[in-house]
Amino acid sequence: MKILVVNAGSSSLKYQLFDMDTNEVLAKGLCERIGIDGIVSHKRPGKEDYKVNADFPDHKAAIECVLKLLTDAELGVIAGVEEISAVGHRFAHGGEKLKKSAVLGDQELEYLESIVGLNPLHGPPAISGFKACKEVMPNVKHVGVFDTSYYSDMEDYAYIYPIPYELYEQYQIRRYGFHGTSHRYVAAKAAEILGNKNAKIITCHLGNGSSITATVNGKAVDTSMGFTPQDGVPMGTRSGAIDPTVVTYIQKATGCTAEEADTILNKKSGLLGVSGVSSDCRDICDEAAKGNYRAQLALKILAHNIKKIIGSYVAEMNGVDALVFTAGIGENDRQIREDVCKDMSWLGVEIDETVNKTCPRGEIVDISAAGAKTKTFVIPTNEEYMIALDTQNLTK
Ligand code: AMP
Repeated sequence: MKILVVNAGSSSLKYQLFDMDTNEVLAKGLCERIGIDGIVSHKRPGKEDYKVNADFPDHKAAIECVLKLLTDAELGVIAGVEEISAVGHRFAHGGEKLKKSAVLGDQELEYLESIVGLNPLHGPPAISGFKACKEVMPNVKHVGVFDTSYYSDMEDYAYIYPIPYELYEQYQIRRYGFHGTSHRYVAAKAAEILGNKNAKIITCHLGNGSSITATVNGKAVDTSMGFTPQDGVPMGTRSGAIDPTVVTYIQKATGCTAEEADTILNKKSGLLGVSGVSSDCRDICDEAAKGNYRAQLALKILAHNIKKIIGSYVAEMNGVDALVFTAGIGENDRQIREDVCKDMSWLGVEIDETVNKTCPRGEIVDISAAGAKTKTFVIPTNEEYMIALDTQNLTK
């Protein structure tokens, strides 16, 4: 069974074609600058990458180009579009109703359109991408996989904010959580390695956007992102959790508008805001190594906040069996892993510094010290595979 996974952004469309019988990625790529001009990069394992300028007035033109590439005599990997059995679409937000991955029909589409206000950045392009794919491939089922659905089993006391309850009832203001597909994937892998599906697991997805999730019995019980991805640990350009009155104080002190205050906290804060160097962790590490105080401070704030959230989740779960690091920083930055895990032996977390330093990229590695009560793993995330798997399960 071949499944196409699509992740549509405002001016981009990422794709991966999976052969679910062999668990192989046959081809993957990215259409960029949709609505501007267009560039497409197309990759097939073991073959030369292909990149060319294109003309993408909209998402429909981009997906048509993807299908042409996938079936091309020279660059293609399938003989015809009819080989694609189903399409899986990534959605950041499924609101309160789409609690599980679902085959997308008229009702689901209507609901997704009704909640774009909760998700103004990612919602509209994901819907455009889905509509374009449905138009071009009307004869297969299309499945929506929602980042928020992993959190749909959380207890009310974990997702209701202590603000007037009417704001939840009227405006659906609550903790939704994001990156759920990634946390679900790596938590399931960790439980599989431990041989314990009831395990208590803390997963740290640390990338340009970062979040931490606590999982028990395969279900998320808490997560650091909230109503939006702005909450939790500091990120590339997002502040993460701060005293909420800072927002109104910034507006009063600087005379900026609510939108400008939002831009400061979303685009000019986090690692970039503190370091003044970059939002990219690699640049900050380089500067920190040269002795740049603000770069060093940004990294210390990051590790401190990750540690604080881990500690709170251990308290919530009454223990932890495994700690998992994933995504760009989590998989590659050994120093952050070391800084986070330092002085956590009381919680049973102890890592082997040599294994942590020499940990090869792209592999699952157990970096725990011998005899550590809590296992610490580096697990490369694979959200696309999870989307393909849900799509297969819902359509086969
Ligand atoms: P992601 O959003 O998962 O693609 O992760 C992006 C973040 O991962 C950026 O801050 C990168 O600097 C960081 N990253 C990627 N590779 C490395 C590396 N080798 N060392 C440190 N950070 C890295």
